[in-house]
Amino acid sequence: MPANIPITVAKGDGIGPEIMDATLEILKGAGARLDIEEIEIGEKVYLRGNAAGIERSSIDSLLRTKVFLKAPITTPQGGGFKSLNVTTRKLLGLYANVRPCVAYAPYVKTKHPGMDIVIVRENEEDLYAGVEYQQTPDETQAIKIITRAGTERIVRYAFDYARRNNRKKVTVFMKDNIMKITDGLFHKIFDEVGVHYPDIEKEAWIVDIGAAKMADTPEAFDVIVMPNLYGDILSDVAAQIAGSVGLAGSANIGMKYAMFEAIHGSAPRRANQNLANPSGLLLGAVMMLVHIDQPDIAGLVHNAWLRTVEDGIHTYDIFKEGLSQQKVGTKEFAQAVVARMGQKPEKFKPVSYTSAPKQTADVHAAEVVTVQQRDLVGVDVFVYHEPGDPNKVGRMMETVNGDGIKLAVISSRGVKTYPDPLPDTITSDSWRCRFQSATDHPVITPQQILGLLGRIAAAGIPWGKAEHLYNFDGKPGFSSIQGH
Ligand code: NAD
Repeated sequence: MPANIPITVAKGDGIGPEIMDATLEILKGAGARLDIEEIEIGEKVYLRGNAAGIERSSIDSLLRTKVFLKAPITTPQGGGFKSLNVTTRKLLGLYANVRPCVAYAPYVKTKHPGMDIVIVRENEEDLYAGVEYQQTPDETQAIKIITRAGTERIVRYAFDYARRNNRKKVTVFMKDNIMKITDGLFHKIFDEVGVHYPDIEKEAWIVDIGAAKMADTPEAFDVIVMPNLYGDILSDVAAQIAGSVGLAGSANIGMKYAMFEAIHGSAPRRANQNLANPSGLLLGAVMMLVHIDQPDIAGLVHNAWLRTVEDGIHTYDIFKEGLSQQKVGTKEFAQAVVARMGQKPEKFKPVSYTSAPKQTADVHAAEVVTVQQRDLVGVDVFVYHEPGDPNKVGRMMETVNGDGIKLAVISSRGVKTYPDPLPDTITSDSWRCRFQSATDHPVITPQQILGLLGRIAAAGIPWGKAEHLYNFDGKPGFSSIQGH
């Protein structure tokens, strides 16, 4: 008999305890081999004055078991509370968010009966890194971070997932026609990693038209991998149009740790009435069973659940007169699934899971950065000056030319404003002044930049930050300026 696997369980708030009890009853009924450590998270912990919503001793349990089955929590109203999901994700390095969005037509109403897609969302980088600044009264900025290693991990995860789950195609969504450097890197790495998966079809969409296509014809997609922000938005869209927000589970996977949950919240108005649908959390738990290498149990649970749904045993949220057979509460739904353990669905396709091969997501040494030459070729200095007159700012900045570097161009809000400003360009109070070599030799030195900043400070010009401009193997590692 294989050993039990320790997992950490949190029952959460609102409907959380009811759907977790139902889920655990089903897992027990299927013979899942688990040793459960229960922790408390969420509202009660927040209201005890713990801003993170989780105690240190609970974190220790997560670090010990490395597997977290989590019910939804309620974040109390008012400021000062940190998102528990973001904390857990960052603390445990959960870089991949995996969200299957499946239609269960005709038993659950949906406009897209053939929909069966999996969204794999990068979970740690992008605009979610939370690197934001305000340096002038008018302008705020956020830095979008896309790393080669982070992208390679998530893209590799998506391809491995596709292979393991018998899926045929992986699509990348990004916007590299606009964000040529950041989303450009995401796309490039998708292409590089994809070469190692000749058995899987590959496809790339610009996120706007891709999202429109997904909302209109989701059957055209299989696995879709995306950077964090697009993935956040589109995984909600996908779950919604599948007709099954209450039915979708999600996995957050890291190199060492993993967390499994439903995608919905704690639905406080439905709590303690034996009403809630436990399916989202249960399908999250199915992913957990695969993760902890109990694929046989995962298959048993998933098939019994499909059978229950096609038998028309439905909780209130998916109950439809004429289509459903029996309206049940949370507990009765769990009992119905347990009663079908060992049965296969007859209308839906039965599922089967195989052992998850150990993640091959470690960075491929061969693909990591083969840049030979990194040359400093300029600096963008962000200067605070009232909006309006680009020529005034331009004349002011020309006065600090010297020592082999000179002003090349000024932009505001990303658009060129100097030299030769157009009359109607709207500016903010933050001016990006690009200085480059004044000689035939494009490479400059950090000392030249320090000299420039010294002259700017001496002239009393308020500057907020300086971004170095590098060429990598002769190719610019900075965006060109719109209109320049
Ligand atoms: P919600 O997902 O809790 O509820 C949205 C709607 O869906 C409600 O009408 C609810 O009754 C229904 N619903 C959700 N899950 C259901 C289920 N399993 N069975 C039947 N009906 C279900 O979203 P909300 O109302 O915006 O948020 C409520 C609380 O949940 C908030 O405090 C929010 O911060 C929190 N939340 C937590 C998580 C999480 O812990 N992962 C995620 C989202 C929201």
